[in-house]
Amino acid sequence: MDLETKALLLSVGTVQVAEPRREGRASTAGPGAGGQSVFFQSGPHLARLSIAASSPLCLESRAEGVAIMMDGKEIVRGRLVEPLLHCPEQAYITVSERCIYDCKFCAVPKLAGGIKSSQTVLQMVEEAARTGSLRAISLTSGVEVLPQHEAERVAGIVRDLKRFGVPVGVSISPFPGVNQILKNAGADEVKYNLECVDRELFPQVCPGISYQEIMDALQEAVAIFGKNRVFTNIIVGLGESDELLRRSIDELTEWGVIPVLRAVFPHPLRAGETWMERPSAERLLDNAHYLKAALEKNGLNGAAALTGCYRCTGCDLTPGRDL
Ligand code: SF4
Repeated sequence: MDLETKALLLSVGTVQVAEPRREGRASTAGPGAGGQSVFFQSGPHLARLSIAASSPLCLESRAEGVAIMMDGKEIVRGRLVEPLLHCPEQAYITVSERCIYDCKFCAVPKLAGGIKSSQTVLQMVEEAARTGSLRAISLTSGVEVLPQHEAERVAGIVRDLKRFGVPVGVSISPFPGVNQILKNAGADEVKYNLECVDRELFPQVCPGISYQEIMDALQEAVAIFGKNRVFTNIIVGLGESDELLRRSIDELTEWGVIPVLRAVFPHPLRAGETWMERPSAERLLDNAHYLKAALEKNGLNGAAALTGCYRCTGCDLTPGRDL
């Protein structure tokens, strides 16, 4: 698969599968939380696609591997990759599957799932480690009570997980002081998601959350965790302009923060709540090239990531890995 074909797959983001129960894997994190998805590998590229019966893409079995069809034509061949926990080679675990916030693109508050105890997380990682393919641990979490409470709980879990001897990345809701708590616990990488780069749209899309607090935590994080260790998800397709997107890429990469450009996933549970439009393949490609150049200009390297989405690459065109 070439980069343009991966961009095409990601611009659609979904695929029809003949036997979803057999091929699909349920997820509590990332785009399409609550749904099922497949990881499609072809050559050097991996694409995660949510399973949807209405998708214009269709996955078909071949004598060796699988093919993806569009408009009756085969566009790419590859194979399905089995995730370890949520994604390949990582134990990527959502600790609190619920959230007091109500970001308008996010399914987690609507799903109102469970809260995993530290013992449950430990057991999940132990099982993943027994397979021999555990390379990293990534923890993410909604906010059950307050961001501070969540950080303390996740920090306790990070301490427990250091025994596995693989890098641990954490993505939680930030607040003043969060970086030191996670650093003291032994986290190797952090991700605080900015989500919406448009400051005017931000309060509608992420009500009750402070744009500035996220930016402050990111800037401080680079001083504490170092270069290539701090990430932020930026959603593409919430109505932001490319100009604002690129201004944010410039500002963040100058600080040493690595943005993840994530195509919005218009989750059925959020239909009609905010403007969401999956970006075109061209928009994904243009902005991925812009991001790659900004990272290089600032001495950052996506391939150096130890955990999380830059390590996985399934949902994005990942500079340093895909291009
Ligand atoms: S890129 Fe990130 S959100 Fe997507 S499957 Fe991989 S780890 Fe999950």
